[in-house]
Amino acid sequence: MPIPFNKPFLTGNEIEYIRKAVVSGKISGNGDFTRLCQDYFKQRFGFHKCLLTTSCTDALEMASILLEIGPGDEVIMPCYTFVSTANAFVLRGAKIVLVDSLPDHPNMDVKQVEGLITEKTKAIVVVHYAGYAVDMDPIMELSEKYGIKVVEDAAQAIDSFYKEKPLGGIGHLGTFSFHETKNLQSGEAGMLVINDPSLAKRAEIIWEKGTDRAAFFRGEIDKYGWVDVGSSFLPSEITAAFLWAQLEQLDVIQAQRKIVWEDYFQAFSQFEIKSNLLSKNYLELLKKEAELFSFTFPAPSKMANAHIFFLVFENIHSRTAYISYLKSKGILGVFHYQSLHQSPFFKKRFPESNSLAANFPNSDRFSDCLLRLPLFHELPRLSFEFFPTGDSRE
Ligand SMILES: *Cc1c(COP(=O)(O)O)cnc(C)c1O
Repeated sequence: MPIPFNKPFLTGNEIEYIRKAVVSGKISGNGDFTRLCQDYFKQRFGFHKCLLTTSCTDALEMASILLEIGPGDEVIMPCYTFVSTANAFVLRGAKIVLVDSLPDHPNMDVKQVEGLITEKTKAIVVVHYAGYAVDMDPIMELSEKYGIKVVEDAAQAIDSFYKEKPLGGIGHLGTFSFHETKNLQSGEAGMLVINDPSLAKRAEIIWEKGTDRAAFFRGEIDKYGWVDVGSSFLPSEITAAFLWAQLEQLDVIQAQRKIVWEDYFQAFSQFEIKSNLLSKNYLELLKKEAELFSFTFPAPSKMANAHIFFLVFENIHSRTAYISYLKSKGILGVFHYQSLHQSPFFKKRFPESNSLAANFPNSDRFSDCLLRLPLFHELPRLSFEFFPTGDSRE
């Protein structure tokens, strides 16, 4: 039976809650289900203010508007990330300044950040890859020292922690994704977390198309109007109802993902030791230029949320060969980001940065060598062969 890369988890209550929203007659945004979700996140994780959005991309765009990013500003962010992290700031005219990954993890190398700060630096955006925390203490120290705001792109990091603090709750702003490929999902949805109270009021106005309608609905003012820039960032109650069904079972979802992650860890740890048992035939299959068929992967972390299990191969050829092997078994393994500086758009938009091409060797290595394995609740426990053994090789 083919094994897809991802299969969205359904709790079984989604349809019932959507029915409730529909029957209530209120299906536009900012209704009961939206409030239930936002309050849950605030209570469980201690976030100051939460606003559901239609995606993490939207939450990042809101963050960019809220921080008044504009032409001439610089925003520091990792080279190894999804394009939305960058687009949100490029859309407002900012220049993005990239940071390489760590040698042994896709997360950004925090030690490089201070050297990139200039008078134009307006924000630092961190991305917690695979739910593993970026080292936030030095980032927040730089933020204090230079008066720069910090945005956590915590799209992959719901229910992950850094020194007991929930990710997304440490920077001035945090953004989450509830896209169907993330741990908690609602098709397409996201959330902006506002941890800096001074940004809270304006965030709500930007969220409500530049009006103070949210305050009006709370009875705080007697009429609402156009008071600032804004856009349509609210998801409908149908989306929020779906998300609420998921949120109620957050612990179940996380526990199941952690079982699958741990199974992978056990299986691949054994393989690492036995890697010399690979048949000669198979090594030939890996093409001449392929070096040792070896890989690394991060240690388990109790603080991470089992969002992704990834392997990092020695080179692109061994990764390609392994993808083909998995495919022959009906298993879909997928790689991840192209380094931003290698993208056609970045080269066109920031031609002056082209000379830096050699400066992101770690990010480029993760582009070429990182492979994500299927990870979802129903994944049959170790019921597929990770590697060719004995007979199946011939
Ligand atoms: C998934 C993801 C996004 C985009 O999330 P959407 O909700 O699909 O807009 C942004 N950044 C990172 C790091 C992601 O993994």
